[in-house]
Parts: sequence; structure tokens; C-alpha cells
Amino acid sequence: MSPVWLRTLAFLTVLGSVALIVRALSGWPLAFGFVAVVLLIRVVRNAMHLQTLWRWSQAKRGVALPRASGAWEELFARLYHQSRATQREHAALSSALASFRGAAQALPEGVVTLNAQNQILWCNAQAEEQLNLSLVKDAGQNIANLLRAPDFLAYLALGEWDRPVALRVRHAGINAVRVLSLQLVAYGDQQKLLMSRDITRFERLEMMRRDFVANVSHELKTPLTVLAGFLETIRETKLPPRQQQHYLELMSEQAERMHRLVADLLTLSALEANNAPADENVAPATLFARIADTARQLSAGRHTMTFEIDEGASITGSEVELTSAFTNLVTNAVRYTPDGGRITVRWSAPDGADARLSVADTGIGIPAPHLPRLTERFYRVDHGRSRESGGTGLGLAIVKHVLTRHQGSLEIESEVGKGSVFTAVLPARRITRRPLRAGMIDAHANADAENADRPRQEPLAERLTAA
Ligand code: ADP
Repeated sequence: MSPVWLRTLAFLTVLGSVALIVRALSGWPLAFGFVAVVLLIRVVRNAMHLQTLWRWSQAKRGVALPRASGAWEELFARLYHQSRATQREHAALSSALASFRGAAQALPEGVVTLNAQNQILWCNAQAEEQLNLSLVKDAGQNIANLLRAPDFLAYLALGEWDRPVALRVRHAGINAVRVLSLQLVAYGDQQKLLMSRDITRFERLEMMRRDFVANVSHELKTPLTVLAGFLETIRETKLPPRQQQHYLELMSEQAERMHRLVADLLTLSALEANNAPADENVAPATLFARIADTARQLSAGRHTMTFEIDEGASITGSEVELTSAFTNLVTNAVRYTPDGGRITVRWSAPDGADARLSVADTGIGIPAPHLPRLTERFYRVDHGRSRESGGTGLGLAIVKHVLTRHQGSLEIESEVGKGSVFTAVLPARRITRRPLRAGMIDAHANADAENADRPRQEPLAERLTAA
């Protein structure tokens, strides 16, 4: 039997016994009066305890119950302990929920939880930002009313969500389209998790990759078609020896063009494959003597060239990469400067400041709108001129890549018809000063004009691999 019934039984037994004694001493009326008074006191006491319990149930959580007596005391104590246990469980659940939401907030992806009717239950900040949602305003709204792109609505209705769907989203106020990957995952009782990921960068990279493959194919297709055409003519037609010789020379030019393209492509791929450039001690005197030689060969006496080299500072970096980058700048100056023009190469490395290699020419110059795109792969201002002078459209892309790997940058100034200045900047921490010995290599080009073709360099890719 429960303690409540035991106590009640004991109380009634005591009350009945006392009432019988009172009846024996004073008769029935007094005995009934006694029982009535005791029961009334009991009812009033119970009502008071009930009132206390009522007030406590309406008070704030955590308020201790006032003291009581008898069975009420024990009941109050039990209730108090149960309420404390519930509070502890509540606190533990709240903290688990807060830590789950904290983890969901920290995700780089957007997360939205939806109920069976596709109404928003919760979403993290990334989802708010990417999908233009507001948890405060949109909680309870059907996601189909907020994300109205037909592709998404069809995906939501389909119910097969093992693959994501890509959406192009334009945000109000931001004039840029973003590409989002959205995926639904079913969980619980018909609930869904909507995950969003910003894939704009991947899409752009994928587009660049496709463009790059298309460009390479196009660049290789032209010389290959020319080569195949000449081969067929030579094979099928009996040509006079002089004409045959001419065709062979043209074929050799195309083969040379393909060779240069492949060499530049291998260079770019070698630069991308190597994490960091070698930390060699590069002496400017040797580096620029080699570059001056190449430039002289290419110019074949058609330009006046001056090299002003501060030999007192050596560079820490990859010799093959720097040679390739600087050679590209100087040979570009030669290729885009008409005969009789002037090319000035200056290398200065003042103490504690960034080092600068500037290549100034009095050439054809570049219209301003093209300047920001010059270092893109295969970008050319004048396709015909680039090809005629043996260009691959990859030179400045290689220069930029090499300089970035050396924490440097490329500055370009140009005026159409007046000339251009390309400046490679290298950070001061890559320069070590030695006792100053400023020198000047006077490089008035005077080589044989017959050798006017762009000199063939040993591909940087091979040299990088060998290094
Ligand atoms: P290319 O092999 O075609 O020269 P680059 O990447 O070296 O490719 O240069 C990209 C484009 O920049 C060239 O096609 C040319 O139009 C322009 N350019 C580069 N250097 C010069 C220069 N010194 N003067 C004028 N135009 C230049």
C-alpha cells in the first residue's frame, strides 16, 4: 500500500478511536462535533498546501517549493527533485541543440531543414546569404515559394535527389550571377535537408579548362593543316626544285611554330606542377648577359638596345624561371618594335626596396582596353602580328606565373604608336646586396639580319625538369 493510503488509514483510525473515547465520556453530539472540527482543519490545511503548489507551478523555473508538513512535505520534495531533473535534461538538450546548430553554422555549405510540407524549419547563415533567405522572416514558409527557379522546383517535385542540381542565382543589388549546387537529402519523418554550395569558382575553372583545350587545339590545327597540305602537294605533284625548296621552308616554319607552342605549354605545365621556385643565388650579370645575347640575335641589328644593369644585387629565385620570364619581356619588345626603334632594359635593386626590371620600347604600343587581359593565355592584341613574329600567345602568361611564384608582379604601361614599358617587380626580401658595381652592357644590335627569326630557346619545361 502506498504511504498516502497508509497515512490516511492511520489518521482515520486515530480519529475514530478518539471520537469513541469522546462519545464514551461525553456522548455522541460532542464526538461528532470533534470529528467535524478535525476534518475541517484537515480540509483547510490541504487547501493551503494545494494553494502553495498552485503558486509554485506558476512561478519561474528553479524556484524552490516552500516547506510543508506530513505527506505534503514528501510530495513537495519529490516534485522539486523531478522539476530539477527536468531542468537539467532541458539544459543538456539545449546545449546539444546549440552545439549542433553551431556546427551547422560553421559548415562552408548552406543548410536548410524542411518539414514534410517543404516548410523551412531552420537554416544557417550561409544558406541565408546564398539563397537570399531570412530565418526570422522565412521560417515556416514553403521553400518552393522562395526558390522559384523552374529547375529547382522540378528537382524538388521529382523526389530523386542522389545528384545535385545547379542553379544560376542573381542577388538583388549584386550585379553578378552565382552558380549554386543544391542537393536535397531526406531524413526523419519525411523531413529534408537542403544543402547549397557556391560552385561559381569551379564553374569558371571548368570553363577556362574547356577554353584552354579549344585554344590549344585551334593553335595546333592551323600549322598541322598547312603542313598536311604542303606534304600532299609535294607528294602528288612534280614540282620544280626551287618551288619544292620553298615549300619545305614553309613547312619547317610551321613545324617550328608547333615546337614553340608545345615548349610554352610544357613550361606552363611545369610551372604549375612545381610548388615553389628553387632558391638559387642568381647573379644579374650572367642572367642579363644571356638575355642580351638572345635579344641581339632576334633583333639582328634592327634596333638600338641598351642594358642598364645594377650588378650589385643578386636575386634569390629560380634561374631558369627568371631567365625565361625576363627573356619573354625583352624578346616581346624586339618583336613589337619596328626597325630602327629603341629598347632599354633597366635592372635596379635599391637597398631595402623592391627590385625592378623594366623593359621599355618605342614600338607599336597597346590600346588601353587590352592591358588588363594581356597575361591571359592565348590573349593577343593583333593575332596576325603575333603569329608573324613567332608568338604563341603564352609569353606573358608565363611571365606572370613566374613572377607570382616569386611573390612579384608585372606592371604594364603603354601608349599606341609610342611604345610600352613592361616592369617586373620582385620583393626586396629576394634581393641580396653585394658591394655595388653598377655596369652597363652596351648592346647595340649588329648581328646578321638574315637571322631575324625568333631564336629557339631550350624549353624551360626541360630545364625545370632537369633542375
Ligand atoms: P605573343 O606570343 O603573342 O607575343 P605574349 O603573351 O607574349 O604573346 O603577349 C601577348 C600580347 O601582348 C601579344 O600578342 C601582343 O599583342 C601584346 N604585347 C606583348 N608585348 C608587347 C610589346 N612590347 N609591345 C606591344 N604589344 C605587346
